Amino acid sequence: MTVPVIDFHIHILPPDRLYASVQNWMQTFVSEPVGPYLERLSTPEAVLDMMDESGVDYGVVLAELSPITAGMLISSEETVEFCRDQPRLIPFANINPYLTTDPAGDLKRYVDELGVRGVKILPTYHHFYPNDRRLYPLYAVAQDKGIPAMFHTGSSVFQNSRTKYGDPLFIEDLAIDFPELVLVLSHSGRGFWTDTAAHLTRTYTNVYLEIAGLPPQNLLRYFPDLEDLADQVIFGSDWPSQPFMQRNVKDIQDLPISQEARAKILGGTAARLLGLPMN
Ligand SMILES: [Zn+2]
Repeated sequence: MTVPVIDFHIHILPPDRLYASVQNWMQTFVSEPVGPYLERLSTPEAVLDMMDESGVDYGVVLAELSPITAGMLISSEETVEFCRDQPRLIPFANINPYLTTDPAGDLKRYVDELGVRGVKILPTYHHFYPNDRRLYPLYAVAQDKGIPAMFHTGSSVFQNSRTKYGDPLFIEDLAIDFPELVLVLSHSGRGFWTDTAAHLTRTYTNVYLEIAGLPPQNLLRYFPDLEDLADQVIFGSDWPSQPFMQRNVKDIQDLPISQEARAKILGGTAARLLGLPMN
């Protein structure tokens, strides 16, 4: 049986929509001019090329509408269009509760009519707590449809982010109130909340660590019991904001844990959540 490699965290960052503050930050680690770089990478073909170079079979493509932090990058509808006819690209919706009067109805429509396979929630960029009761109908829809809800957790360097909303502890209410809902902690509470994220993952079977933005070679320092957690750990690269998809895959393959655990982290766990075939 071959376990697929899945990157659970891929962005589309059109330079005419991504705020200059974010582009200036990216320019500190992208070796070429960042505008043309992002323009070049904002096509399905470029994403698939990067996946091929990195040995990645499937990629989760994330919608994001963040008008006060990063930009109105790509809507859920545009993300579905981006992934059309590309079975290796898996579209996730983004719901910004300040841009709609009906978050739950929107998600239901995106799933039923457009075929989105998950939803990304961005509390630090949109300014609300994950356990905000206004979003409970949205979570009920995600649970009912059997799609993962993925949350930015942990720190961010983007202007106007409010880090307090990134504390994964607020997701504990959701783990209890929506026991069938898959809750993915993007960035695993990076910075000062990795212990909180790991605690929730050990305590609740519906909570998952997603490791985008964490240097994979440091994972065992953050999570000494990574081997035991592997059924609830998911690889993501945050590409192209973090342009290291290929290196990240290799660094996970080099981790001193069992081959079985590495395969789960690189895609086995995500394949189970997304209902993807194991070849
Ligand atoms: Zn990201």
